[in-house]
Amino acid sequence: PDLEGKVVAVTGGGRGIGLATVRRFVAEGAHVVVMDLGMTVGDIGEADSDGWQRVSGELHADFADVDVTDEDAVASFATALERRLGPPDVVVNAAGIVRSASAEDMRLKDWRQVVEIDLTGTFIVCQALGSLMLRAGRGSIVNIASMSGSISNYPQKQSAYNAAKAGVAHLSRTLAGEWADRGVRVNAVSPGYIATELTAGVMAADPDMGAQWVARTPIGRVGTPEEVAEVILFLASDASSFMVGSDVTVDGGYTVW
Ligand code: NAD
Repeated sequence: PDLEGKVVAVTGGGRGIGLATVRRFVAEGAHVVVMDLGMTVGDIGEADSDGWQRVSGELHADFADVDVTDEDAVASFATALERRLGPPDVVVNAAGIVRSASAEDMRLKDWRQVVEIDLTGTFIVCQALGSLMLRAGRGSIVNIASMSGSISNYPQKQSAYNAAKAGVAHLSRTLAGEWADRGVRVNAVSPGYIATELTAGVMAADPDMGAQWVARTPIGRVGTPEEVAEVILFLASDASSFMVGSDVTVDGGYTVW
């Protein structure tokens, strides 16, 4: 795929799947701008300042300290990006968090935070950066949903996450329908279990869980962030030019059950 010199914005690009995606696009010669949180907040699956230091230290990528739930910050970012590099060619929404609690014990605060970051944050970024793409008449947006958006995976106790990720996949279809005839394609990727800090945190809290994930995955292992990044790259590039509103599963067969 020809991504040389293309402007690519990646939310949550400081670590995990987002970071693997940043590396992959940089390897293709793209100009990548990471949108992530610049300081550590909270515990498992949240912001990671080391992540962005890794990115800025190792890679030729720019870093913008942008909270995807902050519409003003995202709007300022969009203005600055357009002024400096022009409208983005590609936007990847990989920022996301997980909260686990049985539905009856799920704190509304946690529910709201998951929906706010995973679903509303994705919409805020799609709206702000998608508008620049629509004015330019071209672009590709790839949103990271999850297999948990289509299966309940109920032992994980992730009601907020599941609902938010189902929302991301359907939002992607909806935006795809609205924007395709103006040159902007929108697709989603739904990973299964991928080895990142996010899943490492869950496994540390419940060591048997990792073994169960592997046992239930037909391919017999969890995936790597690079295996997801490869699919994201494909959806971002012209190689997938007739794909509009797809939700591509990358799960080692977990959902064939
Ligand atoms: P991760 O926790 O390793 O990385 C997530 C990144 O998002 C972090 O760098 C974090 O700082 C950033 N982030 C969090 N809140 C943010 C905010 N408000 N604004 C900007 N950035 C924010 O997670 P990961 O495993 O790489 O997951 C990436 C995406 O893939 C997430 O959307 C996740 O839900 C999804 N996903 C992951 C898996 C998996 O098994 N790891 C499976 C399915 C889907």
